[in-house]
Amino acid sequence: DKQNQGWNLENTYQQLPDLFYTNVKPVKADAPELVIYNETLAAELGLDSSALKDEAEIFAGNKLSDGSDPIAQAYAGHQFGSFTMLGDGRAVLFGEQLTPNGKRYDIQLKGSGRTPYSRGGDGRAVLGPMLREYLISEAMHGLGIPTSRSLAVAATGETVLREAPMPGAVLTRVAKSHIRVGTFQYARQWGSKEDLQALADYSIKRHYPEIEADKDRYLTFLYKVADKQAALIADWQLKGFIHGVMNTDNVAISGETIDYGPCAFMDQYDRKTVFSSIDQQGRYSYGNQPGIGAWNMARFAESLLILMNEDEEQAIPKAKEAVETYVQSVEDYWLEGMRQKVGIVDKSDNDKTLIQNLLDLMEKYRADFNNTFRSLTLQQLDADSALFQSSAFKEWHQAWQDKLEKQSASLEDAYQLMKQHNPSIIPRNYLVEEVLAAAVEKGDYEPFRALLAALKDPYAYTEEQEKYAVNPPEQDYQTFCGT
Ligand code: AMP
Ligand code: MG
Ligand code: MG
Repeated sequence: DKQNQGWNLENTYQQLPDLFYTNVKPVKADAPELVIYNETLAAELGLDSSALKDEAEIFAGNKLSDGSDPIAQAYAGHQFGSFTMLGDGRAVLFGEQLTPNGKRYDIQLKGSGRTPYSRGGDGRAVLGPMLREYLISEAMHGLGIPTSRSLAVAATGETVLREAPMPGAVLTRVAKSHIRVGTFQYARQWGSKEDLQALADYSIKRHYPEIEADKDRYLTFLYKVADKQAALIADWQLKGFIHGVMNTDNVAISGETIDYGPCAFMDQYDRKTVFSSIDQQGRYSYGNQPGIGAWNMARFAESLLILMNEDEEQAIPKAKEAVETYVQSVEDYWLEGMRQKVGIVDKSDNDKTLIQNLLDLMEKYRADFNNTFRSLTLQQLDADSALFQSSAFKEWHQAWQDKLEKQSASLEDAYQLMKQHNPSIIPRNYLVEEVLAAAVEKGDYEPFRALLAALKDPYAYTEEQEKYAVNPPEQDYQTFCGT
């Protein structure tokens, strides 16, 4: 529908009790300019790009579309282990778009000004980090990892004050929902049991409708969310993605990756890798991510106990079992994914040892995580790689080849499987920095668009992707959140 640009918005979150949100309008920007727009995603959402791709006013928050009734959502969360009240301090939910396929997606404007939950913040966002979130979230989608998507970035034409004055921007994010573990913690802490139940029922209906009739539905809900988190975090591990700020407010109950701040992909394999400048203790290091997922699920479980049993104590044993299931599942999903990365189709008990031996060698020789698997996939073991030239690796390689030759699938099929699970390209830190610098400092978006295009199907192994796949220089890379 040209007239209304294809918007088909509902606002069902506002059926929840009032404590869950505040109606708030985005703050108008001075001189909005649309700098990037995602036509493919727009089409999936049923939006009319011919009408929208010049619509800077909507994507900067200056104009509401048909059916938009914006709110800021309330939530709490454990930040680096400390519980606190939070909420959308620089974002508004524009509305929930119903797609032509009958799916419902939150459309959220991030950087759209102050809200009642802003505390000391200015409610604004900076162009560089919003472009970064756009690029990395779309790369995650290309990799096949559940994630919020990015529909547009609009520059506001305003200056935002950080360490220095920076260009402001608004990012339009798309997600199955923005309901977080922290939303449940908020309800448990500051709402009534009825409020909490309303949130749980709403979430189940929206994300796990198959369990609506279950008699222990809140326990089942916990199992479902824990399973989705296990699958998600295993995916992160398999691709070398470090989220960087796995606070409970950044854990979506839909199982999507949300809240891209200080995230980054690991280059050299090292379980202790941390990029975030504020993560001094390495709480959210690469190797800690699966365990932190369990900690976060335990917090989620605590917030649900009262729905499982009026006497919370009584509900603890079963909730504990659910969290323990997460611990097993994340390991199982990981091992299954690792088998695919090395082409194993016939499972056996020593697969884990074989895989762990490779990882240990990669860590010892500081081998590049993605390129090691890429090289194995392409059967191109570079002559100047310390890992590949070591005798320990040569031994490992022989054991691996023996395994592949003995299994039921052909070698060709094994390498094909590897190609489907080892990306040719990831959004490497130095590449991301290069394209962001060109865009923000020179207004040259070509490098950004080229990298974005190459990341669209990372398993295609095109020549274009090859250019981005060289081993990066070893560098101390730091990321920042809240910018
Ligand atoms: P995050 O680090 O993005 O997960 O955000 C943590 C909390 O800080 C959330 O409640 C955000 O809405 C809030 N926040 C982050 N940046 C700003 C800002 N510039 N202005 C207001 N609130 C912010
Ligand atoms: Mg209401
Ligand atoms: Mg957050």
